[in-house]
Order: sequence, then C-alpha cells, then structure tokens
Amino acid sequence: MKQITIVGGGLVGSLLAVFLAKRGHAVHVYERRSDPRKASVYAGRSINLVVSHRGWTALKAAGVKEAVERIVVPVHARMTHDRDGKLTRLPYSIDGRPIHSVSRGELNKVLLSEADKYPNVTVHFDHRCTSVHLDTATCTFHNEENGENVAVTADVVFGADGAPSAVRQEMMKGRFNFSQEYIEHDYKEIAFPPNADGTPQMDPNCLHIWARRYFMMMGLANQDGGFTGTLFMPHSGEFSFDGIKDEKDLKRFFEAHFADAIPMLPDLTEQYFRNPQSNLAIIRCGPWTHTDKVALIGDAAHAIVPFYGEGMNAGYEDCKVLNDLLNDHGDDNWGVVLDAYNAARKPNGDAIADLSLRNFVEMRDLVADPRFILRKKIEGRMQAKHPDKWLPLYSQVKFTDTPYVDAWNEGLRHDRIMEEVLAMPDIAERWESEEVEMKVLGLLEQV
Ligand SMILES: Cc1cc2nc3c(=O)[nH]c(=O)nc-3n(C[C@H](O)[C@H](O)[C@H](O)COP(=O)(O)OP(=O)(O)OC[C@H]3O[C@@H](n4cnc5c(N)ncnc54)[C@H](O)[C@@H]3O)c2cc1C
Repeated sequence: MKQITIVGGGLVGSLLAVFLAKRGHAVHVYERRSDPRKASVYAGRSINLVVSHRGWTALKAAGVKEAVERIVVPVHARMTHDRDGKLTRLPYSIDGRPIHSVSRGELNKVLLSEADKYPNVTVHFDHRCTSVHLDTATCTFHNEENGENVAVTADVVFGADGAPSAVRQEMMKGRFNFSQEYIEHDYKEIAFPPNADGTPQMDPNCLHIWARRYFMMMGLANQDGGFTGTLFMPHSGEFSFDGIKDEKDLKRFFEAHFADAIPMLPDLTEQYFRNPQSNLAIIRCGPWTHTDKVALIGDAAHAIVPFYGEGMNAGYEDCKVLNDLLNDHGDDNWGVVLDAYNAARKPNGDAIADLSLRNFVEMRDLVADPRFILRKKIEGRMQAKHPDKWLPLYSQVKFTDTPYVDAWNEGLRHDRIMEEVLAMPDIAERWESEEVEMKVLGLLEQV
C-alpha cells in the first residue's frame, strides 16, 4: 500500500482516485475549488461533454459505469443546420451506436461521490497546490479557507490539475519539453432553454452543428431538455468576437448566420454579453513522469482543442492504461510502471492533439461541404460492405480502443485513398457503383 497524492479532483483526478483506491492505496486528493456537491458551486457553468467508447471502457474498469450511465443523453448523429435552416442528419456510426452527452459538473460530482465510497480516499477541497518537490514527492498546499500552508510527502504524486498544472510547472524547471499553441478561435457558451413544457427545442439525440467555415456553433443536449450551445469564432478579424460590440452587431450576425437558432434563444443578448469568452490551446509536453515519484495525467499532460470531444476520454484512457500497467508490474514497481506509462501514452497524447485540430477543420469547413458529405457516404458504404477492411477514422477514435496514434496513421492512409476516389470522373453519380468499391479495395492493397 502506497501513499498517493493526486493534485486536482476534476474529471480525471476523481476517476484516478477510484482506480487507485480499488488497489488498496491510501489516496489523498487535493482540489483547489470547493466541493461541487455543495449547492450552486456549478451555477452558471454548464458545459457538457461527450463520453465515448474509451471513456466508457475506463469507467467500466473502475466500476463506475452504471453510476455515470444514469446522467447521460445518447447522441446518435450530427445534425447540420445550414443558413436557411435546412437540416441534414449524419449518423455517427452505421450500426446506430451513440456517443453520450453529460454535464461536466454532474459527472464530476458522481465521480467524487464514487471515490468517497472508499475509506482509503480523502478529498481535501479548497487546497491549492503551490509547489512540488519532485525528488521527494512532497507537495505544498495552500488552504484557501484558513490561509495556512501544509506540506505533504507521499510515495507518488499525480498531477491531475488540468491545463495550467502546477505540477507540470515544477517539472518544467528541469529537462522537460513543453509547447503551448493557441488557436485563433475562442469560444463562448450560449444555453438553449427547454420549451415551457420541459421538452427539448431540437432533437436531443443529435449534436447540432451550424458550420460556417470561419466560425461555427454547436449544441449538445442536457438531461433537462435544454442544450448547451458553444460558439467558436476567431478572437479578432472579420467574423470574430471582437467584431460583435453591441446588441445591434449581435442581432445582425445571428440573423445572417444562425437565423434558425434565434427563436430558440430568447435571452441571447443577455447571455452573449454576460458569458465569458475563453481561449483554446494545445499543450504538448514530456516526459510526463519524473523517476518513480511523479506523473502527469489528463489535461496536465495533454491539453487539446475540444473538436474531437476526446480530451476527457483520453484522460480516462490514461487512467485505464496506468491501472493495466499496475496489474502487469505490481504495485511496488512504480519506476517501471511510470516509465511504461510515459512510453505508452505520450505518443497517443500527441496523436489526439493532431486529431483534435483536424476535426476542428472538419467540423468548421467540411461538414457543410458536399465533397465531405460524399466522402462520408462512400466510407459508410465501404464500412457496411467490408467492416473488416474499412473503419473510418472517426469510428476508430470514437468507437474503438485502437491507440490514437494507430488510428491517426490509418486515417492519413484513408485520406490518400479517398483523394484518388473522389477524383474519379462523375463520382457524385456513381459512388454506389461496384467500380468505386473495387477501386477502394484495390487502393487498400497498394497505399
Ligand atoms: C469547450 C470544451 C468542450 C470540451 N468537450 C469535451 C468533450 O466533449 N469530450 C471530452 O472528452 N473532452 C472535452 N473537453 C476536454 C475536457 O474538458 C478536458 O479534457 C477534461 O476536463 C480534462 O480533465 P482533467 O481532470 O485532466 O482537467 P480539469 O477538468 O481541468 O480538472 C483539473 C482540476 O484540477 C484542479 N486544479 C487546478 N490547479 C490546481 C492546483 N494548483 N491545486 C489543486 N487543484 C488544482 C482544478 O480546479 C480542476 O478541478 C472539452 C473542453 C472544452 C474547453
């Protein structure tokens, strides 16, 4: 049994606590915020997230799948909204398998409660990590309530403290690679309320996308019949957050680009000017571990942009892989386990960062592009007829445990093949022909 400190009791830290508690370790989670289960801590911040296959695999391995299943909404398809309000439904999978929408706050509360069930877990809220001595696994925490500082020495420290990670800051003082890349887009949340009778205003089993090339909005269902909308737009320039200065600008902008959403957003102006505008960055770093003492996990190791909806799922997969490595090597070989963890996960962290950027382009530009829709149709047909030979990149990422790095390489191969297929004469008319099918199968042998 080891003494383990987890810095950060967010989505990943709380699940990691469950995994390590099940193994019998003495787990102390230090979270800078107050307990979200106490009333209204989450008020005004209702981001929801997509849980997909990898997330579920990890939740199941930790024994908390059923508890999370109670708070999700299944999402079977993308629903694109064009400028005229025309809707197009694009299923996520050919066999009807859904991804799931969940409230970030509710998920965090459920996982903290699951962790609390173990007598060997203690969660210390209102404790902010201010420094870490890496060689001795000693963290100093500032108690936000009484102003005192406390130093805690453990056998192993996990930095599950998200993108701004204090643990990573400490690692950066040594031989450590780090890059942070802001994208030009920021985001802002706009909530779509339910109808007066509590029913949803749009199909709740779809992720709604208003793709407008330079910017986009998406909407994901909440359990209460409402949707959380997220507007992604450049920080500055034409079509940007900077370009919307007052109510008139906002009205003009929504009328031109998201007209069908206006009747569903009665308090759009109030929300738009009240809700914060947040930026988005990708953090790549490494190594994620320091000797047998310290490891980064979740966003602290790999903060990505949210366009694949995989940041949390990747963090959950980190937890599952770590648990598998502890199964393989035992709970007394932390040097071996942490080295293997870094070797297994770091390339996948980089791959999902690349994938998240790629999906940004896909969602923003391509979902509204007829060639993209045609490609999806051809891929869907190939998958239906030859499931052993063709699994689209999106399905590999969202519906399998294929390592992200392998999925990414296979996706690049698919791009090369589909480029040739889409260049075939009259492809829009004969995409369902045997000739096209044979062409894809032939290219699969060569490319
Ligand atoms: C708009 C948006 C949409 C997203 N959609 C999805 C999605 O659909 N699916 C998906 O899988 N992912 C999604 N993500 C990504 C997801 O939110 C993150 O990957 C996930 O929250 C990472 O969890 P984490 O626990 O590693 O970090 P965080 O959720 O950031 O949690 C870190 C915790 O550490 C605490 N902390 C920070 N510093 C300290 C300190 N010094 N001392 C003590 N505690 C500290 C914080 O208070 C927090 O509770 C989205 C992200 C954004 C921004």
